Amino acid sequence: MKFGGSSVADPAKIQHVARRLVEAKQRGLRVVGTVSAMGKTTDGLIDLAHQVSPTPNAREFDMLLSTGERIACALVAMAIHDLGQVAISLTGSQAGILTDGAHMKAKIREIRGDRVKDALDEDKIVLVAGFQGFSRDTMDVTTLGRGGTDATAVALAAALGAACEIYSDVPGVFTADPRIVPNARKLPTISYEEMLEMSASGAKVLMLRAVELARNHGVRIHARSTFSDEEGTWVQEGASMEQPIVSAVTHS
Ligand code: ADP
Ligand code: ASP
Ligand code: MG
Repeated sequence: MKFGGSSVADPAKIQHVARRLVEAKQRGLRVVGTVSAMGKTTDGLIDLAHQVSPTPNAREFDMLLSTGERIACALVAMAIHDLGQVAISLTGSQAGILTDGAHMKAKIREIRGDRVKDALDEDKIVLVAGFQGFSRDTMDVTTLGRGGTDATAVALAAALGAACEIYSDVPGVFTADPRIVPNARKLPTISYEEMLEMSASGAKVLMLRAVELARNHGVRIHARSTFSDEEGTWVQEGASMEQPIVSAVTHS
């Protein structure tokens, strides 16, 4: 279960996300959550770096940016404890997310999920800090690029053989950005290929690389709302190779 920045933007929303994770656990599921940094935290950190240095050192930039997700993760874990469940927050490196060494755009090479699985076996809800990993080549913390928590979520789902739910401030993938086009329609399903086209051409609802990961590993994504229980959009293998229809309008 992945929650984006707007879903954990303030303490009340963090408590709400904690309740959603606990509800899933109480339905008998083994639950791994990954969260983005609170609200516009990452933008704030980038701005701060540029106030200190005109050309921030790439390694230090990733050290800085990775803190946003750690804060959100630890806070969600605290809120879960208050609901009477045991949770553990892990940084990307603690969760075994191994990447190449390319700072600010690192690619996930593999996930050594032992620590996550052990914690699940101990009946814990596991929170993994999104958007970050660790490079064995450089022994440094890396980040995955803007919107990268979507990639964390899909990669974790692939590694754990889990379903992938991506929760956001919109209830699914629409025929156009619903914030700009109020009568846009929610798509019940969309193929990987169509979603790739949409993400590549400006629909920021799912990160392009996350959709690529999902297609490559056959992970079905359920994109849905943090704030309601309504069915969202399933991103999955298309029914036919080529359907001559217009799916959506995007812009950049
Ligand atoms: P999160 O912070 O949860 O990762 P994002 O802000 O990255 O969420 O993505 C959700 C946003 O994507 C929505 O608020 C919406 O404005 C935008 N968006 C753009 N195109 C679409 C679309 N076709 N369907 C749904 N949302 C879209
Ligand atoms: N916090 C990071 C960003 O703002 C990653 C994410 O939100 O997925 O890009
Ligand atoms: Mg996003």
